[in-house]
Amino acid sequence: MNEGQFDFRRVRRRFRRPLRTGAGEVDAVERILLRTRTANGLGYGEVAPWPGFPTESIEDATEVLRSANGQLAHLSAVVAASSALPCLAAALSSCRHWDAIAAWNGALPCAGLLTDDPTDLAKKQAAGFRTLKLKLLPTTSIAEVRALLAGFDGTLRLDANGGLDLTAARAWTEFVRAEPRIEFLEQPLPVGHAGYASLGAAKVALDESFLTPAGLDWAGPVVVKPALVGDWDAFRAWRRAQPARPVTYSSSFETAIGRQGALWLAAQDGAGAAVGFDTLGRFELDGRERHANGPEARGLLDLSWDGFWNELA
Ligand SMILES: [Mg+2]
Repeated sequence: MNEGQFDFRRVRRRFRRPLRTGAGEVDAVERILLRTRTANGLGYGEVAPWPGFPTESIEDATEVLRSANGQLAHLSAVVAASSALPCLAAALSSCRHWDAIAAWNGALPCAGLLTDDPTDLAKKQAAGFRTLKLKLLPTTSIAEVRALLAGFDGTLRLDANGGLDLTAARAWTEFVRAEPRIEFLEQPLPVGHAGYASLGAAKVALDESFLTPAGLDWAGPVVVKPALVGDWDAFRAWRRAQPARPVTYSSSFETAIGRQGALWLAAQDGAGAAVGFDTLGRFELDGRERHANGPEARGLLDLSWDGFWNELA
């Protein structure tokens, strides 16, 4: 029986510059940090929904947390009984595995994220990134991507954030399949678009269309945001059952607590694909990020998580 107590803190984080997402521009996000206290000690987790993904909202999560009134058994039971609370389920998973998470100091290859800044390519190459991700705009042409590949000898990922129509998606998919240094095209079409069946799954990765493994009808690559994927033990069981599927782990702009947990989850996957965690430094300085940026996403060993928690107040 899952005995114990919990408390939580809600924090608002403002981006330095509005961030372009699949659901439009975002100025700020709210997160809930969760702390559990059981006979086994303290655990930490983070509720970090992301615009455009159909999880519970911060308001929904806050209401569930308030009504559980600090009782962990009550909270765990409510979350386990619902499929509509994947962020809370992920946060509770992080709390349960916190000893292992806090002890993780490994390093994972990380993909660099190219923004609209034209100097990004040179900067990311100089920093040593071997995989880069480019967000496709409606104006991006295949010729531009060819030019980018000509100036970079690593691997590229393309992300359309659901912004293509079927004709454009077909053209990009054909290009991506013919180009060995492009790993995949992410979310070419909007969520639920019938055209996915005709595009086919090879080198087409679902991101906004993938939340949790429950009910997934897609044989191809998926992008997993650990903060949104629901219960981590259930996810890992699903993953173990299909080791050949390409899976990419990706950030939802977590604080240090969520990042440490998400990287730990990614590290449990033996496939070793570069993770999408080049997300640090995008918020106004608020002391809530502690990991180092770079072509390797590393765990943090030298942080007092209790101290981090206390500074959130
Ligand atoms: Mg994406």
